[in-house]
This record gives sequence, structure tokens and C-alpha cells, in this order.
Amino acid sequence: MGVDRGKPVLVVHAGAGVLSPDLGERTAETGAFLIDVLDRGRSMLEGGDDAVAVAVCAVSMMESFELFNAGHGAALCSDGTVELSAAVMRGSDCAAGAVAGVRSAKHPIRAALSLLDEYQVLMVGESADQHAVRAGVEPCPNEFFVTARQRARLEAGAGGDRGTVGAVCLDRRGSLAAATSTGGVRGQPPGRVGDSPLIGAGTWADGNVAVSCTGDGEAFIRTGAARYIAALIGEGKDLQSASDAALRGVAALGGRGGLIAVSATGEVATPFTTEVMPRAIWKVGEPPRVTVGTP
Ligand code: ASP
Repeated sequence: MGVDRGKPVLVVHAGAGVLSPDLGERTAETGAFLIDVLDRGRSMLEGGDDAVAVAVCAVSMMESFELFNAGHGAALCSDGTVELSAAVMRGSDCAAGAVAGVRSAKHPIRAALSLLDEYQVLMVGESADQHAVRAGVEPCPNEFFVTARQRARLEAGAGGDRGTVGAVCLDRRGSLAAATSTGGVRGQPPGRVGDSPLIGAGTWADGNVAVSCTGDGEAFIRTGAARYIAALIGEGKDLQSASDAALRGVAALGGRGGLIAVSATGEVATPFTTEVMPRAIWKVGEPPRVTVGTP
């Protein structure tokens, strides 16, 4: 596959699901925020930053946006606490770092990044939080992540609501990266881990493609969705067909969701089978494209 070097791409998503009433009321604000995320990524890419740095920065920004289910504002577990998971993968050498069930790393994606160049790929729970602190990731009390909005939604029994944020990036040198961060599913039992931090399920990047998934995590895990796309592309399938095939596999298990993917040649796919999947795309030389609610 020829690499169209010099044409960076950044795609982000803010979770596949239904348009919650408050997100519905704040679509303009959310769209403006996603434009800010793209702008920041664009200036980093134009300044020569690599795909990992840009994807992590984009996800880190989205972890701070309270309407998204990641970092501050994440969905609550059944006991009212927050457990966060994140992963980052570098396509050039398939290096990966991930954390699951962390409770105090202010930016879980930075905790994942702290493992990218270590032997261990995935760390969980308190040990992952401690590792993140040693790596310089800022800690915070678990209550920092808990918002009144999410507490009300848990108390109202609004179960099963999704979210998750992710970014995929192609940089000027033709390298790919994927990053994903989530609070999981509202009302999940503490200890439950979805697809987002699992390399090959919710997050994948290699020399051909970078993928970040969102949706019914168990179905994405059971189909190895993100890596499945890479396998199909390795066999010569185009990005859109490979992405659609992965979602068909998820659907066959009763799962719904979506994903963002970018190929080494700069093709983009953003399929989803839910009502909405807020997303934003920037390609060099093109205006940013942002969709929050239904088109
Ligand atoms: N996939 C995530 C999980 O299962 C949730 C989501 O994307 O909304 O934890």
C-alpha cells in the first residue's frame, strides 16, 4: 500500500449511543468544543508532532469535557464511584499502553501513555494508578470525576448509557496512532472492563490502519473488532467495507456501536449503528467536519 506522506488526518469521536437530552440541548457548545480539539490537533500536526502525541492530546482534552463519558463527567459504577480505562497504540511498531479500572489518574489516557514504551502493555486498578503517579501523571480524588449530571442519571436508573471518547491520527510522516478513553457503562459493577482499553478489541493501530471503537463493549471484545478491521485490510479490503464488516460482527452478537478509522493513505471511515456518534474529522486542506446530533 503506497503511503501518501505529508497529508495528516485527525478524527475524534465522543461515543456511540443515543442523544441524551442535555447533550441535545448543548449540541452547539459540544460542536464548538470538538472544533477546538481539531484545531489543537491541526496545529500540533502542522508543527511536526507525531500521531501518538496528537491522539493523546485530543483524548486528554475530551476527558476534561463533562458531557463526555471519560475522565471528569464519566459514567458512574453501580456504587456511585468512577472507574476509568484507556489505551493508546502506535502504528509504526505496534507499541501499546493501556490501563483499566483506574480511580485517581486525572487523565487516564496519560496513564496509558506512560506504559507505551514499557514491557507491560496493560495495568489495572490501584497499581496502574500508582504507576501513573510515578510516571508524572497528576492524581486526583475519585470525586473529581463525579458530576451532578452523572449522579442524577445513575439515581434516575438511566442504565446502559454509553459514551467513550477516541481519536485516530495519521501524521506527516505517515505514522498512525489510536487512543480511546472511557468510564465504561453507567451502573456497571465495579471491576467490569469493556473493550476500550483492550488492544485489538476497542483500540488498534498498525502500519495500515488506526481504529477506536465505542458501543456495547462486550460484543466488541468477543469479536476482536478493531484488530478484525486490520486483518481485513491486510487481506486487501477497503477501509469502509472492513469497518462495516466489523460492526456486522458486533451486531450478530446483539451489540451496537460505532468506530472511527483512518488508513495510512488517509481514508476515513466513521460507521455507527446507534442513533448518534458525535465525531469530528480534519484532513489537511479541507475544512473541519463536525457532527454532534443526527445529521
Ligand atoms: N465501549 C465502552 C465500554 O463497553 C462504552 C462505550 O463506548 O460507550 O465500556
